[in-house]
Amino acid sequence: MAGLKKKDKVIVLSGKDKGKKGEILKVFKKGDKIEEVIVSGINLVSKHKKPTRNDPGGIVKKEAPINVSKIMLVCPSCDKPTRLKMNLTEGGEKFRVCRKCGQTIA
Ligand SMILES: [Zn+2]
Repeated sequence: MAGLKKKDKVIVLSGKDKGKKGEILKVFKKGDKIEEVIVSGINLVSKHKKPTRNDPGGIVKKEAPINVSKIMLVCPSCDKPTRLKMNLTEGGEKFRVCRKCGQTIA
């Protein structure tokens, strides 16, 4: 899905976190195409952390990247999962519009 960026609210469409919502923390691109994103609280994996002097270590949960085909944007205006439409201003600047409610998404 194109046009996603950091701090967007998304919903997971498939996999073990299906139906969960989170906020995009990081976007991974291949060229100018978004391939994977990291979403808060989604696709958690356990990582072993070595103990240090101030930290007993153990297993910590951390977000792993999720393929962009498995998520969809949740529109901040209508609160529904939606695709984005890219529109151009008269000055030629791109802006994002919700396909469901037609509102501009910042
Ligand atoms: Zn909307």
